[in-house]
Amino acid sequence: MVRVHTARNLAELAIVRDHLAARGIATEIRNQFAGAALGEIPWTSTWPELWVVDERDAGLAQRLIAEAGGAAEASCAVWTCRSCGEQVEETFARCWNCEAELPE
Ligand SMILES: [Zn+2]
Repeated sequence: MVRVHTARNLAELAIVRDHLAARGIATEIRNQFAGAALGEIPWTSTWPELWVVDERDAGLAQRLIAEAGGAAEASCAVWTCRSCGEQVEETFARCWNCEAELPE
């Protein structure tokens, strides 16, 4: 068993797990119930972890995760405000800086 990824939440980890499963890589999620112990252990150690069952798959798994991470970043697009030039995340319909609306 080799740990290949730590995510901030289970939803994110499930995406990675499905991505690896699609390539035939068996994985296991650990730590998913550790949130109950929050406060007694460092909070970062309560993050869910993805472990590859067969360590021979670890190299490929890490490459796939890197690819998936790149795709996730690309989908978090930004737009540039026409009135003040600020970079605004796509999820916001208005500029957080000057409140101009998202350009067409
Ligand atoms: Zn603006």
